[in-house]
Amino acid sequence: MREFGYERAHDVAGAVALLCSDPGARLLGGGSNLVDLMKAGVERPTLLIDVQELPLDGIESTPEGGLRIGATVSNSDLAAHPDVRRHYPALAQALLAGASGQLRNMATVGGNLLQRTRCGYFADLSKPCNKRTPGSGCPAIAGEHRNHAVLGASEHCVATHPSDMAVALTAFDAVISYETAEGPGDLPIDAFYLPVGDTPHIETALPAGAVITGVTLPPAPAAYSHYRKARERASYAFAIGSVAAALDVHDGAVHDVRLAFGAVASRPWRARAAERALTGGPADADAFAAAADAELAAAQPLPGNGYKVTLMRNLVVAVLTRLAEEAAR
Ligand SMILES: Cc1cc2nc3c(=O)[nH]c(=O)nc-3n(C[C@H](O)[C@H](O)[C@H](O)COP(=O)(O)OP(=O)(O)OC[C@H]3O[C@@H](n4cnc5c(N)ncnc54)[C@H](O)[C@@H]3O)c2cc1C
Ligand code: SF4
Repeated sequence: MREFGYERAHDVAGAVALLCSDPGARLLGGGSNLVDLMKAGVERPTLLIDVQELPLDGIESTPEGGLRIGATVSNSDLAAHPDVRRHYPALAQALLAGASGQLRNMATVGGNLLQRTRCGYFADLSKPCNKRTPGSGCPAIAGEHRNHAVLGASEHCVATHPSDMAVALTAFDAVISYETAEGPGDLPIDAFYLPVGDTPHIETALPAGAVITGVTLPPAPAAYSHYRKARERASYAFAIGSVAAALDVHDGAVHDVRLAFGAVASRPWRARAAERALTGGPADADAFAAAADAELAAAQPLPGNGYKVTLMRNLVVAVLTRLAEEAAR
Protein backbone atom coordinates (compact mmCIF):
# COMPACT_ATOMS: atom_id res chain seq x y z
CA MET A 1 0.00 0.00 0.00
CA ARG A 2 1.45 3.36 -1.00
CA GLU A 3 0.66 6.28 1.25
CA PHE A 4 -1.13 9.31 -0.18
CA GLY A 5 -2.70 12.46 1.22
CA TYR A 6 -6.39 13.32 1.04
CA GLU A 7 -7.96 16.80 0.95
CA ARG A 8 -11.53 17.83 0.36
CA ALA A 9 -11.87 21.00 -1.73
CA HIS A 10 -14.80 23.32 -1.02
CA ASP A 11 -14.32 25.86 -3.80
CA VAL A 12 -12.83 25.74 -7.29
CA ALA A 13 -9.97 28.16 -6.52
CA GLY A 14 -9.00 25.97 -3.56
CA ALA A 15 -9.04 22.83 -5.73
CA VAL A 16 -6.85 24.53 -8.35
CA ALA A 17 -4.41 25.74 -5.66
CA LEU A 18 -4.14 22.25 -4.15
CA LEU A 19 -3.63 20.72 -7.61
CA CYS A 20 -0.81 23.17 -8.33
CA SER A 21 0.78 22.55 -4.91
CA ASP A 22 1.82 18.95 -5.68
CA PRO A 23 2.81 17.50 -9.08
CA GLY A 24 1.61 14.10 -7.82
CA ALA A 25 -1.88 15.38 -6.96
CA ARG A 26 -5.00 13.97 -8.68
CA LEU A 27 -8.60 15.09 -8.51
CA LEU A 28 -11.03 12.56 -7.10
CA GLY A 29 -14.57 12.56 -8.49
CA GLY A 30 -16.58 9.43 -7.73
CA GLY A 31 -13.30 7.49 -7.73
CA SER A 32 -14.80 4.68 -9.81
CA ASN A 33 -11.95 4.74 -12.33
CA LEU A 34 -9.10 6.44 -10.48
CA VAL A 35 -9.24 4.16 -7.43
CA ASP A 36 -9.26 1.03 -9.61
CA LEU A 37 -6.16 2.34 -11.42
CA MET A 38 -4.51 3.08 -8.06
CA LYS A 39 -5.16 -0.50 -6.96
CA ALA A 40 -3.56 -1.73 -10.20
CA GLY A 41 -0.55 0.55 -9.64
CA VAL A 42 -1.17 2.47 -12.88
CA GLU A 43 -1.93 5.68 -10.97
CA ARG A 44 0.25 6.52 -7.97
CA PRO A 45 -0.96 9.86 -6.66
CA THR A 46 0.67 11.47 -3.67
CA LEU A 47 -2.42 13.56 -2.94
CA LEU A 48 -6.10 13.02 -3.74
CA ILE A 49 -8.23 16.17 -3.94
CA ASP A 50 -11.88 15.29 -3.51
CA VAL A 51 -14.02 17.53 -5.74
CA GLN A 52 -17.41 16.12 -4.75
CA GLU A 53 -18.25 19.06 -2.50
CA LEU A 54 -17.40 21.76 -5.02
CA PRO A 55 -20.44 23.89 -5.86
CA LEU A 56 -20.60 22.31 -9.35
CA ASP A 57 -23.61 20.03 -8.92
CA GLY A 58 -26.23 22.09 -10.77
CA ILE A 59 -27.98 21.66 -14.14
CA GLU A 60 -29.35 24.93 -15.50
CA SER A 61 -30.90 26.21 -18.73
CA THR A 62 -28.77 28.73 -20.61
CA PRO A 63 -30.21 31.95 -22.10
CA GLU A 64 -29.55 30.45 -25.58
CA GLY A 65 -31.83 27.48 -24.85
CA GLY A 66 -29.12 24.96 -24.02
CA LEU A 67 -28.02 23.40 -20.75
CA ARG A 68 -25.13 24.05 -18.40
CA ILE A 69 -24.14 20.92 -16.46
CA GLY A 70 -21.83 21.09 -13.43
CA ALA A 71 -18.77 18.83 -13.37
CA THR A 72 -19.76 17.03 -10.16
CA VAL A 73 -23.30 16.16 -11.27
CA SER A 74 -23.62 12.40 -10.96
CA ASN A 75 -24.26 10.30 -14.04
CA SER A 76 -27.56 9.17 -12.45
CA ASP A 77 -28.80 12.72 -11.79
CA LEU A 78 -27.86 13.83 -15.30
CA ALA A 79 -29.68 10.90 -16.91
CA ALA A 80 -32.81 11.59 -14.82
CA HIS A 81 -32.97 15.35 -15.39
CA PRO A 82 -36.24 16.28 -17.18
CA ASP A 83 -34.55 18.69 -19.63
CA VAL A 84 -31.99 16.05 -20.59
CA ARG A 85 -34.67 13.42 -21.11
CA ARG A 86 -36.87 15.81 -23.11
CA HIS A 87 -34.32 17.66 -25.27
CA TYR A 88 -31.24 15.41 -25.32
CA PRO A 89 -32.65 11.87 -25.07
CA ALA A 90 -29.50 10.38 -26.64
CA LEU A 91 -27.52 11.71 -23.68
CA ALA A 92 -29.86 10.18 -21.10
CA GLN A 93 -29.82 6.88 -23.01
CA ALA A 94 -26.01 6.88 -23.26
CA LEU A 95 -25.66 7.45 -19.52
CA LEU A 96 -28.16 4.73 -18.67
CA ALA A 97 -26.36 2.31 -21.00
CA GLY A 98 -23.16 2.74 -18.96
CA ALA A 99 -21.90 0.78 -15.96
CA SER A 100 -24.47 -0.02 -13.25
CA GLY A 101 -26.89 1.94 -11.08
CA GLN A 102 -24.46 2.02 -8.17
CA LEU A 103 -21.57 3.21 -10.35
CA ARG A 104 -23.71 5.87 -12.03
CA ASN A 105 -24.61 7.20 -8.57
CA MET A 106 -20.89 7.62 -7.82
CA ALA A 107 -19.57 8.70 -11.23
CA THR A 108 -19.32 12.41 -12.03
CA VAL A 109 -19.45 14.26 -15.35
CA GLY A 110 -15.81 15.41 -15.02
CA GLY A 111 -14.58 11.94 -14.12
CA ASN A 112 -16.56 10.27 -16.88
CA LEU A 113 -14.95 12.56 -19.48
CA LEU A 114 -11.46 11.68 -18.21
CA GLN A 115 -11.88 7.96 -17.58
CA ARG A 116 -9.07 5.92 -19.08
CA THR A 117 -9.10 3.21 -21.71
CA ARG A 118 -10.14 -0.35 -20.88
CA CYS A 119 -7.32 -1.88 -22.97
CA GLY A 120 -6.20 -4.83 -20.84
CA TYR A 121 -2.49 -4.12 -21.39
CA PHE A 122 -2.86 -0.58 -20.04
CA ALA A 123 -3.82 -1.86 -16.58
CA ASP A 124 -1.31 -4.73 -16.57
CA LEU A 125 2.03 -3.52 -15.23
CA SER A 126 3.75 -6.70 -16.43
CA LYS A 127 3.17 -5.66 -20.08
CA PRO A 128 4.57 -2.76 -22.12
CA CYS A 129 2.11 -0.02 -23.11
CA ASN A 130 2.85 3.28 -24.86
CA LYS A 131 -0.09 4.96 -23.16
CA ARG A 132 1.11 4.02 -19.66
CA THR A 133 4.88 4.13 -20.34
CA PRO A 134 5.67 6.18 -23.48
CA GLY A 135 8.05 4.43 -25.86
CA SER A 136 7.58 0.96 -24.35
CA GLY A 137 5.52 -0.46 -27.23
CA CYS A 138 1.98 -1.52 -28.02
CA PRO A 139 1.38 -5.26 -27.57
CA ALA A 140 -2.30 -4.94 -28.52
CA ILE A 141 -1.47 -4.53 -32.23
CA ALA A 142 -0.10 -8.08 -32.50
CA GLY A 143 -2.05 -9.32 -29.50
CA GLU A 144 -5.56 -8.97 -28.07
CA HIS A 145 -7.30 -6.18 -29.98
CA ARG A 146 -10.81 -7.51 -30.58
CA ASN A 147 -12.32 -4.43 -28.95
CA HIS A 148 -9.78 -1.91 -30.19
CA ALA A 149 -9.94 0.99 -32.63
CA VAL A 150 -10.72 0.84 -36.34
CA LEU A 151 -10.72 4.61 -36.96
CA GLY A 152 -8.01 7.22 -36.30
CA ALA A 153 -5.61 4.84 -34.53
CA SER A 154 -1.83 4.91 -34.93
CA GLU A 155 1.07 2.47 -34.83
CA HIS A 156 1.65 3.70 -31.27
CA CYS A 157 -1.76 2.89 -29.79
CA VAL A 158 -5.00 1.32 -30.95
CA ALA A 159 -7.01 1.69 -27.74
CA THR A 160 -10.57 3.02 -27.65
CA HIS A 161 -12.16 5.61 -25.39
CA PRO A 162 -14.66 3.84 -23.13
CA SER A 163 -17.19 6.57 -22.29
CA ASP A 164 -20.78 6.31 -23.52
CA MET A 165 -21.67 9.79 -22.21
CA ALA A 166 -18.88 11.47 -24.17
CA VAL A 167 -20.20 10.03 -27.46
CA ALA A 168 -23.59 11.69 -26.96
CA LEU A 169 -21.90 14.93 -25.84
CA THR A 170 -19.88 14.84 -29.07
CA ALA A 171 -23.01 14.53 -31.22
CA PHE A 172 -24.47 17.52 -29.34
CA ASP A 173 -21.34 19.73 -29.76
CA ALA A 174 -20.74 20.06 -26.02
CA VAL A 175 -18.22 22.59 -24.72
CA ILE A 176 -16.05 21.66 -21.72
CA SER A 177 -15.25 24.44 -19.23
CA TYR A 178 -12.33 24.41 -16.85
CA GLU A 179 -10.48 26.58 -14.38
CA THR A 180 -6.70 26.93 -13.97
CA ALA A 181 -4.48 29.22 -11.88
CA GLU A 182 -4.40 31.50 -14.95
CA GLY A 183 -8.20 31.71 -15.15
CA PRO A 184 -11.11 29.94 -16.86
CA GLY A 185 -11.12 28.32 -20.29
CA ASP A 186 -13.41 26.44 -22.67
CA LEU A 187 -12.77 23.63 -25.15
CA PRO A 188 -15.27 22.32 -27.72
CA ILE A 189 -15.42 18.57 -27.20
CA ASP A 190 -13.92 17.98 -30.68
CA ALA A 191 -10.79 19.85 -29.55
CA PHE A 192 -10.88 18.49 -25.99
CA TYR A 193 -9.98 14.93 -27.04
CA LEU A 194 -6.70 14.82 -29.00
CA PRO A 195 -5.89 12.51 -31.92
CA VAL A 196 -3.73 9.61 -30.72
CA GLY A 197 -0.73 10.22 -33.04
CA ASP A 198 2.61 9.39 -31.43
CA THR A 199 1.57 10.65 -27.98
CA PRO A 200 -1.11 8.21 -26.77
CA HIS A 201 -0.34 9.19 -23.16
CA ILE A 202 -1.62 12.74 -23.85
CA GLU A 203 -5.34 12.25 -24.27
CA THR A 204 -6.87 15.71 -23.92
CA ALA A 205 -6.05 19.35 -24.52
CA LEU A 206 -6.92 20.17 -20.91
CA PRO A 207 -4.08 22.33 -19.56
CA ALA A 208 -1.99 21.02 -16.65
CA GLY A 209 -3.49 21.98 -13.30
CA ALA A 210 -7.02 22.35 -14.71
CA VAL A 211 -10.21 21.49 -12.85
CA ILE A 212 -13.15 20.74 -15.14
CA THR A 213 -16.02 22.92 -13.94
CA GLY A 214 -18.81 21.96 -16.32
CA VAL A 215 -20.19 21.14 -19.74
CA THR A 216 -22.41 23.39 -21.84
CA LEU A 217 -24.78 21.98 -24.43
CA PRO A 218 -26.03 24.26 -27.20
CA PRO A 219 -29.76 24.03 -27.99
CA ALA A 220 -30.64 20.53 -29.20
CA PRO A 221 -30.17 20.34 -33.00
CA ALA A 222 -33.26 18.19 -33.54
CA ALA A 223 -36.36 17.04 -31.72
CA TYR A 224 -35.27 13.41 -32.13
CA SER A 225 -32.05 11.86 -30.94
CA HIS A 226 -31.04 8.35 -29.96
CA TYR A 227 -28.08 6.38 -28.58
CA ARG A 228 -27.59 2.72 -29.35
CA LYS A 229 -24.84 0.61 -27.84
CA ALA A 230 -23.70 -2.84 -28.91
CA ARG A 231 -22.00 -4.88 -26.17
CA GLU A 232 -21.15 -8.45 -25.38
CA ARG A 233 -23.65 -8.66 -22.48
CA ALA A 234 -27.04 -7.01 -22.17
CA SER A 235 -25.89 -4.87 -19.24
CA TYR A 236 -22.85 -3.88 -17.19
CA ALA A 237 -20.49 -4.03 -20.17
CA PHE A 238 -18.52 -1.48 -22.16
CA ALA A 239 -19.50 -0.82 -25.78
CA ILE A 240 -17.97 -2.72 -28.66
CA GLY A 241 -19.57 -0.11 -30.91
CA SER A 242 -22.11 2.65 -30.38
CA VAL A 243 -23.87 5.45 -32.24
CA ALA A 244 -25.33 8.73 -31.00
CA ALA A 245 -27.48 10.51 -33.56
CA ALA A 246 -29.84 13.47 -33.85
CA LEU A 247 -31.91 13.86 -37.01
CA ASP A 248 -34.08 16.69 -38.31
CA VAL A 249 -36.13 15.83 -41.42
CA HIS A 250 -38.16 18.33 -43.52
CA ASP A 251 -40.37 17.03 -46.33
CA GLY A 252 -38.53 13.71 -46.46
CA ALA A 253 -35.09 15.33 -46.73
CA VAL A 254 -32.39 15.54 -44.09
CA HIS A 255 -32.30 19.12 -42.82
CA ASP A 256 -29.79 18.55 -40.00
CA VAL A 257 -28.00 15.46 -38.73
CA ARG A 258 -25.45 14.86 -35.96
CA LEU A 259 -23.66 11.56 -35.74
CA ALA A 260 -20.97 10.31 -33.36
CA PHE A 261 -19.48 6.83 -32.94
CA GLY A 262 -18.22 5.20 -29.73
CA ALA A 263 -15.74 2.37 -29.06
CA VAL A 264 -14.11 2.64 -32.48
CA ALA A 265 -11.37 5.24 -31.87
CA SER A 266 -9.14 6.71 -29.17
CA ARG A 267 -11.79 9.40 -28.69
CA PRO A 268 -15.49 9.79 -29.41
CA TRP A 269 -15.62 9.87 -33.21
CA ARG A 270 -17.62 12.63 -34.87
CA ALA A 271 -18.83 11.17 -38.17
CA ARG A 272 -18.58 14.31 -40.28
CA ALA A 273 -18.19 12.54 -43.63
CA ALA A 274 -21.46 10.72 -42.98
CA GLU A 275 -23.15 13.97 -41.91
CA ARG A 276 -22.04 15.67 -45.14
CA ALA A 277 -23.26 12.74 -47.24
CA LEU A 278 -26.69 12.87 -45.61
CA THR A 279 -27.43 16.59 -45.41
CA GLY A 280 -30.00 17.68 -48.02
CA GLY A 281 -30.58 14.15 -49.27
CA PRO A 282 -33.32 11.60 -48.68
CA ALA A 283 -33.91 10.22 -45.19
CA ASP A 284 -34.06 6.55 -46.20
CA ALA A 285 -32.17 3.34 -45.49
CA ASP A 286 -30.12 3.45 -48.72
CA ALA A 287 -28.89 6.96 -47.93
CA PHE A 288 -28.12 5.98 -44.34
CA ALA A 289 -26.07 2.97 -45.49
CA ALA A 290 -24.20 5.07 -48.08
CA ALA A 291 -23.41 7.68 -45.41
CA ALA A 292 -22.08 5.00 -43.05
CA ASP A 293 -19.90 3.67 -45.87
CA ALA A 294 -18.58 7.21 -46.54
CA GLU A 295 -17.45 7.46 -42.91
CA LEU A 296 -16.16 3.92 -42.61
CA ALA A 297 -14.09 4.15 -45.82
CA ALA A 298 -11.33 5.48 -43.55
CA ALA A 299 -11.47 2.41 -41.27
CA GLN A 300 -8.26 0.42 -40.85
CA PRO A 301 -9.27 -2.65 -38.90
CA LEU A 302 -6.74 -5.01 -37.37
CA PRO A 303 -6.95 -8.77 -38.07
CA GLY A 304 -9.20 -9.34 -35.05
CA ASN A 305 -11.64 -6.43 -35.15
CA GLY A 306 -12.90 -6.15 -38.74
CA TYR A 307 -16.36 -7.04 -37.42
CA LYS A 308 -16.64 -3.49 -36.10
CA VAL A 309 -16.94 -2.01 -39.59
CA THR A 310 -20.05 -4.08 -40.36
CA LEU A 311 -21.38 -3.52 -36.84
CA MET A 312 -21.08 0.26 -37.13
CA ARG A 313 -22.72 0.30 -40.57
CA ASN A 314 -25.67 -1.65 -39.20
CA LEU A 315 -25.92 0.54 -36.09
CA VAL A 316 -25.97 3.73 -38.17
CA VAL A 317 -28.74 2.42 -40.44
CA ALA A 318 -30.80 1.16 -37.47
CA VAL A 319 -30.51 4.35 -35.42
CA LEU A 320 -31.17 6.75 -38.31
CA THR A 321 -34.10 4.65 -39.57
CA ARG A 322 -35.66 4.77 -36.12
CA LEU A 323 -35.19 8.56 -35.94
CA ALA A 324 -36.63 9.08 -39.45
CA GLU A 325 -39.69 7.04 -38.45
CA GLU A 326 -40.14 9.13 -35.31
CA ALA A 327 -39.83 12.33 -37.33
CA ALA A 328 -42.48 11.10 -39.81
CA ARG A 329 -45.10 10.41 -37.08
C1 LIG B 1 -17.37 -2.17 -13.61
C2 LIG B 1 -17.43 -0.88 -14.38
C3 LIG B 1 -18.19 -0.80 -15.52
C4 LIG B 1 -18.27 0.39 -16.24
N1 LIG B 1 -19.00 0.45 -17.39
C5 LIG B 1 -19.06 1.59 -18.10
C6 LIG B 1 -19.78 1.70 -19.30
O1 LIG B 1 -20.43 0.74 -19.75
N2 LIG B 1 -19.79 2.88 -19.97
C7 LIG B 1 -19.10 3.97 -19.50
O2 LIG B 1 -19.13 5.02 -20.15
N3 LIG B 1 -18.37 3.91 -18.38
C8 LIG B 1 -18.34 2.76 -17.67
N4 LIG B 1 -17.59 2.68 -16.54
C9 LIG B 1 -16.73 3.80 -16.21
C10 LIG B 1 -17.39 4.83 -15.36
O3 LIG B 1 -18.36 5.52 -16.14
C11 LIG B 1 -16.29 5.78 -14.93
O4 LIG B 1 -15.48 5.07 -14.02
C12 LIG B 1 -16.84 7.03 -14.28
O5 LIG B 1 -17.64 7.76 -15.18
C13 LIG B 1 -15.70 7.91 -13.82
O6 LIG B 1 -16.23 8.98 -13.07
P1 LIG B 1 -15.70 9.26 -11.60
O7 LIG B 1 -16.33 10.53 -11.14
O8 LIG B 1 -15.85 8.08 -10.72
O9 LIG B 1 -14.16 9.51 -11.95
P2 LIG B 1 -12.86 9.32 -11.06
O10 LIG B 1 -12.48 7.90 -11.02
O11 LIG B 1 -13.01 10.03 -9.77
O12 LIG B 1 -11.82 10.15 -11.94
C14 LIG B 1 -11.48 9.78 -13.26
C15 LIG B 1 -10.44 10.77 -13.77
O13 LIG B 1 -11.03 12.07 -13.90
C16 LIG B 1 -10.29 13.02 -13.15
N5 LIG B 1 -11.26 14.00 -12.65
C17 LIG B 1 -12.38 13.74 -11.93
N6 LIG B 1 -13.09 14.88 -11.77
C18 LIG B 1 -12.40 15.87 -12.40
C19 LIG B 1 -12.61 17.29 -12.58
N7 LIG B 1 -13.70 17.92 -12.11
N8 LIG B 1 -11.70 17.98 -13.29
C20 LIG B 1 -10.60 17.38 -13.80
N9 LIG B 1 -10.34 16.05 -13.64
C21 LIG B 1 -11.24 15.31 -12.96
C22 LIG B 1 -9.58 12.23 -12.06
O14 LIG B 1 -8.43 12.89 -11.58
C23 LIG B 1 -9.26 10.95 -12.82
O15 LIG B 1 -8.09 11.15 -13.60
C24 LIG B 1 -17.54 1.52 -15.79
C25 LIG B 1 -16.77 1.46 -14.62
C26 LIG B 1 -16.70 0.27 -13.91
C27 LIG B 1 -15.87 0.22 -12.66
S1 SF4 C 1 -3.53 -0.12 -27.45
FE1 SF4 C 1 -2.77 1.70 -26.36
S2 SF4 C 1 -3.37 1.28 -24.27
FE2 SF4 C 1 -3.42 -0.71 -25.31
S3 SF4 C 1 -1.36 -1.61 -25.11
FE3 SF4 C 1 -1.34 -0.43 -26.99
S4 SF4 C 1 -0.53 1.55 -26.31
FE4 SF4 C 1 -1.27 0.55 -24.47
